[in-house]
Amino acid sequence: MNIHKKVNINRSSTYNIGVSSCLLGHAVRYDGGHKYNSLIVTELEKECTLIPFCPEVAIGMGVPRPPICLVTINNNLHAINKADKANFELDYTQQLSSQANKYLADNVRLHGYIFQEKSPSCGIASTKVYDNNGALVSTQGSGIFVKSMTFALPKIPVIEACDLNSRP
Ligand code: SF4
Repeated sequence: MNIHKKVNINRSSTYNIGVSSCLLGHAVRYDGGHKYNSLIVTELEKECTLIPFCPEVAIGMGVPRPPICLVTINNNLHAINKADKANFELDYTQQLSSQANKYLADNVRLHGYIFQEKSPSCGIASTKVYDNNGALVSTQGSGIFVKSMTFALPKIPVIEACDLNSRP
């Protein structure tokens, strides 16, 4: 079954909701997989215009791709190749941050965003953060894309998919 084809995006509704593409069944994760979320696809798409977006694909990282992770360096978060945290040529921080501004410029009438949790790009407050020796320092980091987006649009309602699923 092609899950991607099941998503019928409603272009006539009032609310424009950004969604991490993988939640709609798009195979955009680093390993070629997705995080299909039936609640979003079967319920929310009836009421909202869903705007799928994967920041890592948008910056040209490709699928599949080497996974990235968050590393704190001099009190700043960086999105760096997970297997080679010392290689700063594989630092995607600036590209992911810039992509958030570009996304907002292209989607000026955005009413909210549903993010995939635990992602170094999309996690709101659930992503692992390491120090530059590889030690885990937090499990509540914010992904680079969402961090830049909420900095630019501090009042936009955002939620992680796991919280949506747990609502009554
Ligand atoms: S969590 Fe974000 S960056 Fe990762 S695959 Fe999903 S949309 Fe792309």
